[in-house]
Amino acid sequence: MSICPKNKTSRGRRDKRRANWKMSATSLVKCSKCGELMLPHRVCKACGSYNKREIVTVD
Ligand SMILES: [Zn+2]
Repeated sequence: MSICPKNKTSRGRRDKRRANWKMSATSLVKCSKCGELMLPHRVCKACGSYNKREIVTVD
């Protein structure tokens, strides 16, 4: 996209773009410490670790 769009994006084109954005399934990765499925680039909910180190204490 340019800074100054040459043509107006039509309603159909705009809506089609927005309709697709939620389609990709949420990707999950396995925690390197406990093997729990978790969101990538986030602290593990089960053991509180990130990058193989426990940084948050889970009770
Ligand atoms: Zn974990």
